[in-house]
Amino acid sequence: MLEVQNLTKDYENKPLLKGVSFEVGKGELVCLLGSSGSGKSTILRIIAGLEEPKSGTVLWEGRDLRDVPTHKRGFGLMFQDYALFPHKTVAQNIAFGLQMQGLKEEEISRRVKESLESIRMQSFADRPVTELSGGEQQRVALARALAPSPNLLMLDEPLGALDHTLRTQLIQELRAILHQSQIPVIYVTHDREEAFGLADRLVILHDGIILQQGSPMELFEQPSTPWVAEFLGLGNLVNGVVTQLKPLQIKLPFTELTLPGLPLELSEGQACQVLLRPEDALIAPTNSAGENYFECIVRDSLFMGEYFQLELLCSQTTLFARSETPAKVGSRLGVSWPADKIQVFPK
Ligand code: ADP
Ligand code: MG
Repeated sequence: MLEVQNLTKDYENKPLLKGVSFEVGKGELVCLLGSSGSGKSTILRIIAGLEEPKSGTVLWEGRDLRDVPTHKRGFGLMFQDYALFPHKTVAQNIAFGLQMQGLKEEEISRRVKESLESIRMQSFADRPVTELSGGEQQRVALARALAPSPNLLMLDEPLGALDHTLRTQLIQELRAILHQSQIPVIYVTHDREEAFGLADRLVILHDGIILQQGSPMELFEQPSTPWVAEFLGLGNLVNGVVTQLKPLQIKLPFTELTLPGLPLELSEGQACQVLLRPEDALIAPTNSAGENYFECIVRDSLFMGEYFQLELLCSQTTLFARSETPAKVGSRLGVSWPADKIQVFPK
């Protein structure tokens, strides 16, 4: 439905977007994920036609939108400061966009009723929005954005102002409402939990380009760069050097890993980064053996509900590992990482 091709944009002669391309399919919920200041809101403004790119194209169903003004694009945009009209009721707020479309009164009240049902707030119709909680206001803002049935809905960090508990609740609800609406959505956030909880597809923006895109599972299993792995919080990234190719050996500051059968273009002496995921660690008694076994000192052991998170000091390097059992702070501990779970990024 939407194709964004090679967008570039400079601010004050500094490039912000250096060639951004991605697509949004029918009924698809795409999360655009990037750090604060990476240019996410700028991309949405360009798609909405509120700002021009330096170069690049925005297509809707194959049609170049260059000369189509904002109000003719039929895209909805909802910001973090949702700015409901404070002097209006819930129903009046939702009706606003429909009135702007010039719909008949009957049609408007039918659609307002449907919208209220979709957010399960039928009984709130006549309440002033100022009497709602933050989460309720956010649901009303979403209903207001959905009511005119936009071709595409863009949500810019809509949950950013809410506390963590409320956010977690709303993520599930948002996903259900958005999928039910069948409207394609671009959801912008810098919060990976939000993105993983919502997205059909994740698009990762970093340093002016799309570093990687794919389903949450694809990104989780195969991050394309150390930056993506770190941004998604996938685990420990450790610098190493290739010391031997067959079998592949990589020297880390605290041990030497053996990684047979890793299909990588590496050369001897090459610097690389190694991803050691906490959930793949096998905790062992000291003086035992195992694939890529080494020993470290327990710095902390934190109860996380379903597992213990261990903070380990291995020579000068800190590593996190998951364990089913707690470990004694200050004690020595053996740990091993199975070779087939380790990912190597050449530098
Ligand atoms: P994000 O939404 O990812 O936080 P933005 O798209 O809001 O990022 O902006 C990225 C950067 O671009 C900002 O840090 C700011 O310096 C710059 N920027 C955005 N809009 C303007 C503008 N209208 N004029 C000058 N600089 C801007
Ligand atoms: Mg922004």
